[in-house]
Amino acid sequence: MSKLINPQETIQVIQQNDFRFQKRFGQNFLIDENVLSNIITSSEITKDDCVLEIGPGIGTMTQALCEAARHVVTVEIDSNLIPILQNTLKAYDNVTIIHSDVLKLDLNDVIQKYNDGKPVKVVANLPYYITTPIIMGLFESHAPIRSITVMVQKEVADRMQSLPGTKDYGALSLAVQYYSKPEIIQLVPPNCFIPRPNVGSAVIRLLRYPESPVSVSDDRWMFQLIKAAFGQRRKTLLNSLSSGAGVPKDATIKALQNMQLSETIRGEALTLAQFAELADQLMEYKN
Ligand code: SAM
Repeated sequence: MSKLINPQETIQVIQQNDFRFQKRFGQNFLIDENVLSNIITSSEITKDDCVLEIGPGIGTMTQALCEAARHVVTVEIDSNLIPILQNTLKAYDNVTIIHSDVLKLDLNDVIQKYNDGKPVKVVANLPYYITTPIIMGLFESHAPIRSITVMVQKEVADRMQSLPGTKDYGALSLAVQYYSKPEIIQLVPPNCFIPRPNVGSAVIRLLRYPESPVSVSDDRWMFQLIKAAFGQRRKTLLNSLSSGAGVPKDATIKALQNMQLSETIRGEALTLAQFAELADQLMEYKN
């Protein structure tokens, strides 16, 4: 099977298999060789690595991953793509195709089964409609993952990197920055895909910290507070923690005073370290 990474081969595979794009699965297939080679290079895969790919499509990136890695486990939801993948990847004996919704998969089990529980590298051109749950799921599963190199909507890549006080700053920024060091590798225009998405894209690499730069007694509780704070971002922290996380207002006032912060502050002004301190101070209200 020849390399799929160009418009002609991609169109040919689609036509030969009478494949119909499903909008609900966020299907935009990569057709640009430079972008693909940049993803492979920046993910720093070696022949020692096991790679987890999410959403292989017709297998364009999977082929390149198979060339670079020791083993590739790739998870695709669309049953119409499974026989296509079996054909486009038949030259490789180091790939496992899993037909599943990645959000329903137990990642710890998969990594245990295919890489003896050792850290894997995640590489993907993600379906944009579920980017945030996928990224949050990868982190919150606490599965052994060394790095995540993914194509996402440009706006989402910006959110992952943004800092307090900016409009893009939110729960996703804090989660990404608690668990990893984000770095935008490349901006990617719509004409690098078939069909073209309506938005610009970016490749971002999230290098997982062995230990987070911020320490907190209970990170689940911290993220519960963060979600409450940004669930109602126009409200003051005092009000959003009261309605969204059940924290009494006088307790939040006391914690904010201890931290020398204003009672009228909003969540979007707090740094990750300040959320960690707040969570520790409000531990007794954890539910
Ligand atoms: N990797 C291919 C490429 O670069 O050409 C396809 C990328 S396309 C943006 C996203 C892929 O994710 C599609 O193949 C789609 O069917 C698949 N997908 C969508 N939702 C999924 C889910 N919940 N679990 C697994 N795969 C999913």
